[in-house]
Amino acid sequence: MDIAVIGSNMVDLVSYIDKIPNEGETLEAADFKIGCGGKGANQAVAAAKMGSKVMMVTKVGDDLFADRTIENLESYGIDTEFTSKIPGTSSGVAPIFVDRESKNRILIIKGANQYLLPEDIDHAAKKLKKSSLIVLQLEIPIQTTYRAIEFGKENGIPIILNPAPAAKKLDFDYVRKCDYFIPNESELELLTGMPVESKDQIRTAASTLLEKGLKNVIVTMGSRGVMWVKSEKIFTVDSYKVDAIDTTGAGDAFIGCFAHFLVQSGDVLLAIKMATAFAALSVVKQGTQTSYPSVQELEQFIK
Ligand code: ATP
Repeated sequence: MDIAVIGSNMVDLVSYIDKIPNEGETLEAADFKIGCGGKGANQAVAAAKMGSKVMMVTKVGDDLFADRTIENLESYGIDTEFTSKIPGTSSGVAPIFVDRESKNRILIIKGANQYLLPEDIDHAAKKLKKSSLIVLQLEIPIQTTYRAIEFGKENGIPIILNPAPAAKKLDFDYVRKCDYFIPNESELELLTGMPVESKDQIRTAASTLLEKGLKNVIVTMGSRGVMWVKSEKIFTVDSYKVDAIDTTGAGDAFIGCFAHFLVQSGDVLLAIKMATAFAALSVVKQGTQTSYPSVQELEQFIK
């Protein structure tokens, strides 16, 4: 196993609407689409699309979205032995309303994701120990994320933590044990309470996390690129100039692809560069997982 993703899955229920109904009003929507998402699943899919052997530790409900989620993960070759169903619970779902100006209104129902518990890490221990990298986010109970960090440390497995969705407070007794901490700008801002408008401000904010004991802070900055801050050193990688039409899931694309190339090469800068290209390709297509490029498309793009 190359990569173990311990995290969330969601099913996006996207309604394309002219306007939000008022109280007591019923309106027709022009179109509707179902898509598989969730930060953990997106990152697992991105890594698997690049060719990594990926296992996913996650929970689904016992509704019709559960089988669809499992089938979707397996269609990318992801190991779902520890993707289990919680009876009497809904799967994680996200009803999304997109208006004519492409503006989103999103509800998140975490559903079964709330039942991914610390003991699930121990349950999957035998298989998890075979992985070369653990990838974590914050869409599951925080105690489970902390247990996964401990597990990685106990077993000498490097850890990526993507602190998304944004959290105000994290326990740095755990977080500092992660090898790669990858926030976007707003996650960095919320966590440090510092401004992140300019690159200098981002560097200063990221440096405060190094002072708290983190080894590598890699900040994704949308179309402005990526900044990797490590002790005294700072590296920046520019984003590709592309016509972005849908940036949903770009952060997850970056993390999954970065994880793949980190395991394959051990070269952090190379992994950042490849992930920057992969994420750029993901924003020129509509959708989340469905916008992620293939190995051939990525190779063609960076030629
Ligand atoms: P999301 O929440 O939409 O998934 P995010 O806010 O977590 O994304 P970003 O920093 O916006 O993450 O994007 C991740 C990476 O994707 C960026 O570092 C960059 O490499 C690439 N990217 C994002 N937006 C663009 C863009 N408009 N043009 C080119 N590359 C982009």
